[in-house]
Amino acid sequence: MHSYLIVEDSPMVQKIIQHVVQQENLDNVYFADSMATGLALYERHKDTLLACIIDRNLPDAPDGEMVSAMLSHGVPTIVLTGSAGEELRQQLLSMGVADYVLKENRFSYQYAVRTLKRLTRNRSIKALVVDDSSTARQAVSQYLALYQFQVVEAASADEGLHQLGKHDDIKLVIIDYNMPGKNGIQFVQQVRHDFDKRPLAIIGLSGQTEHQLSVRFIKTGANDYLQKPFAQEEFICRVTNTVDALEQMIELDQRATRDYLTHLYNRRYFMEEGELLVDKCRRSQTPLTLALLDIDYFKQINDEYGHEAGDRVLIQLAEYLTSVFERFTLARIGGEEFAIIFSGLDECRTLALLDQFRSYLANQIFMVTEDEYIRVTFSAGVTQQTDLDSLDRVMARADKALYAAKDAGRDMVMTDTIEDSSI
Ligand code: GH3
Ligand code: MG
Ligand code: MG
Repeated sequence: MHSYLIVEDSPMVQKIIQHVVQQENLDNVYFADSMATGLALYERHKDTLLACIIDRNLPDAPDGEMVSAMLSHGVPTIVLTGSAGEELRQQLLSMGVADYVLKENRFSYQYAVRTLKRLTRNRSIKALVVDDSSTARQAVSQYLALYQFQVVEAASADEGLHQLGKHDDIKLVIIDYNMPGKNGIQFVQQVRHDFDKRPLAIIGLSGQTEHQLSVRFIKTGANDYLQKPFAQEEFICRVTNTVDALEQMIELDQRATRDYLTHLYNRRYFMEEGELLVDKCRRSQTPLTLALLDIDYFKQINDEYGHEAGDRVLIQLAEYLTSVFERFTLARIGGEEFAIIFSGLDECRTLALLDQFRSYLANQIFMVTEDEYIRVTFSAGVTQQTDLDSLDRVMARADKALYAAKDAGRDMVMTDTIEDSSI
């Protein structure tokens, strides 16, 4: 569980923030109106506390004492301040606050609350910093760490590429232009080529005032560009915008390739990916098998317990399937129909796996209503790709085998070859 602390003494400002917190669906937010009550709340919730918003000027802490207290406990802190001259700004940044917000209007508080959410999400985002200068690298890493990113560093483009290969959860790269060996733009080119399917945001940096560098970075595949030297706030705003955009792109991509109910891949993705796999295995002469699974008597579940119960069964079966077949290409390709491509497995191995899954499922119960549980079985048809097969032909043969399994009484796995040999 996560929690947040907001300390603000003005009742009016607190009311606005409470409203924004509700709008933003942020849970477990604790409010205090003084340093004393704020510290008491901190003590009670420190184990789950992720970040806080602190008014710099409180009745019992008029000069940022509460801000210092939170920072000394290592809590990422966003400061609310009534004024921010250059001196105060420098002071806040050197204290190590994640961000500060001028108390101006509703949007300021919205920015502060959204930043709380951003900090929370950033905790699960890994960022890579590539720069040959260790001073510059550390400065950037420090900003990223203040904003709660997990940071990996590299001192050259080649080391950066190596880190990208090693950590497949890196989502953000900050890359300097001027480096011995490959420069920043060559790095971007290589990354977009080597990791073309990976959702990855890249921000280029350079100290040079070379005119076309920003354009070249972006045309090569960087998402944004920053001129050195830059202020912490500017850096953070660019990074936040870039990561927001990346997350939106990932979500759109998920919507296009995933089934909304079970979150398995959808039919469209399966057919696209399937074509590629079938081609690849045919070329490399590796075996490939395809299985079609269809729930038995699913209509009866809907009829007896309702459509929602049917949905629950689909979700639960998808979870069981994922737990066993996640490493293969698994999709929901129709109402109660699932498909799996087993690259590298021959028919014999696939049959064994599916039969194992069938026995496993026989021991599972499916919740259909709050207090009613049922058992669910499926039938499956399996076929192995031959030299001449397209995906469509493989699917058609698996479908024929599936219907044979249905005809023969359901709750079984059949292959087209077994059917042939039994003639
Ligand atoms: P069989 O053993 O021959 O496969 O019989 P069945 O009842 O499972 O198959 P049938 O094709 O007759 O019925 C499938 C039913 O699945 C009909 C349809 O209303 C239902 N269905 C399709 N998509 C969904 C869905 O997303 N949610 C729910 N709850 N039902 C769905
Ligand atoms: Mg069915
Ligand atoms: Mg059906």
